[in-house]
Amino acid sequence: MTSSTLLLPNYVAGRWQTAQGSGTPLFDPVLGTELVRVSSAGLDLNEGFTFAREQGGRALRAMTYRERAVMLGAISKVLQTHRDAYYDIATANSGTTRKDSGVDIDGAIFTLGFYAKQGDALGDARVLIDGEPTRMAKDPTFQSQHVMVPTRGVALFINAFNFPSWGLWEKAAPALLSGVPVIVKPATATAWLTQRMVQDVIDAGVLPPGALSVVCGSSAGLMDALQPFDVVSFTGSAETAAVIRSHPAVSQRSVRVNIEADSLNSALLDPAATVESEAFKLLVGEVVREMTVKSGQKCTAIRRIFVPAHLYDAAAQAISAKLAGVSVGNPRNESVRMGSLVSGEQLAAVRAGLAQLRAEADVLHDGATHALVDADPAIAACVGPTLLGTRRPAEARVLHAVEVFGPVSTLMPYDTLEDALSLIRRGEGSLVSSLYSEDPGFMANAALELASSHGRVHAISPDVAALHSGHGNVMPMSLHGGPGRAGGGEELGGMRALNFYHRRSAIQASTAALEQIVASGQRLVL
Ligand code: NAP
Repeated sequence: MTSSTLLLPNYVAGRWQTAQGSGTPLFDPVLGTELVRVSSAGLDLNEGFTFAREQGGRALRAMTYRERAVMLGAISKVLQTHRDAYYDIATANSGTTRKDSGVDIDGAIFTLGFYAKQGDALGDARVLIDGEPTRMAKDPTFQSQHVMVPTRGVALFINAFNFPSWGLWEKAAPALLSGVPVIVKPATATAWLTQRMVQDVIDAGVLPPGALSVVCGSSAGLMDALQPFDVVSFTGSAETAAVIRSHPAVSQRSVRVNIEADSLNSALLDPAATVESEAFKLLVGEVVREMTVKSGQKCTAIRRIFVPAHLYDAAAQAISAKLAGVSVGNPRNESVRMGSLVSGEQLAAVRAGLAQLRAEADVLHDGATHALVDADPAIAACVGPTLLGTRRPAEARVLHAVEVFGPVSTLMPYDTLEDALSLIRRGEGSLVSSLYSEDPGFMANAALELASSHGRVHAISPDVAALHSGHGNVMPMSLHGGPGRAGGGEELGGMRALNFYHRRSAIQASTAALEQIVASGQRLVL
């Protein structure tokens, strides 16, 4: 095959367009073979954004919430039809085992289904009613009513490499349900799955023209094409987030931006726990799961583990013993539990990050001791899970600041609960912290203490051990995002996700006029 036959087309301005040049190659991170190429060179982005804004936006806004919910259901069916192909692409391009690919692919289908159901409940409305009408004066004839209407722009998604499927659909579901057209720019390394899903959905004809576009390859020019009523949702590193925040589209044209960046998530064991306690076992199991699912390439993965000082050695032993049994290598081999990182670049980044952390921590379990199954260590971007530990967490700096985006976590002891909470807060704002205890009083207190610095607090006691959704699993009914270094963004959280894609306006009018507005809309219940 020549490079031009491998070049994936972009879908912009309602047509498939092959960009200029030979493109950037995407690789199989286990075998090292080239798969496809992507390029956005020479695309007329202004034409594409205008087409989406005008044609896609108009068509979507002409539909009711229920009609758009039906559309989400149709997308979900298309994706289910082609599910096997997506698993093959994920194995080849992301190096994930079938189970790990499921988090991305089936997680996306589940989220679409969730918003299809939620949207159906909004019925035939085209406007959302926010709160009750409020009198503006003593006389009740003139009142104020807040409403939410879809923003008349596009939603640009600039996504990270680790969730090429879920990362698109968890954002697209609330955007399309809100009546806002989507333009997605996947991370180059794993763009193939996103591109293929968009292709299947476009080919199925379940969306109006302009409702969904995909640009693969360089991000150059994307932010320049944004207009004041557009929104941009970015997921990726803090460095790129800073570039986006300072772009004139945001700083001068007030384009609304949602940022999901890196995060030093934590797990905390109750000071009253013992080695025999269920809470201890639950923490150990969850830490190992979080370190190994998707080879630790999850924004929500547990990076710092806090245990009472007297349990430090026992926790180090228990976690290390479980990690030692994790098989690493070619995800096509059924005995492999953990596949590879997404690329050689990521492998190099994980190694460099580990070297930084090791300056402040001991190695409790060394990932380098894992022999690779069915994979050539000279080629495959595979790395075993590494548990680090320090007995002096208060003196550490890098351990609370550097996110190693791979199967790496650091164990830290604490003396008092107050110490633990203040160490956790040294992450300066995280996506999620999980608590392990048998005491509801401890859970309630610690959860509220951590709520202001976390988008989500996941409190696990033995009674929910078999039910809970997992520390790192992002469910559409719960908020995803976090303050501070986590980016300050808010995604999902049920119908709260619709806020970002709407404009809120206060209509001050006669009671009679407001009654007509309320009758034509649907009260939003968050
Ligand atoms: P990244 O390098 O910042 O890239 C993210 C996206 O931004 C990619 O699509 C990238 O395109 C694009 N990009 C790069 N430079 C840009 C620019 N100047 N203007 C506009 N877009 C630009 O991040 P990554 O390495 O893919 O992702 C890993 C990071 O994402 C980790 O830190 C992780 O914690 C974070 N993450 C956070 C969440 C969350 O929900 N909070 C979820 C997943 C990942 P190219 O690929 O073409 O360079």
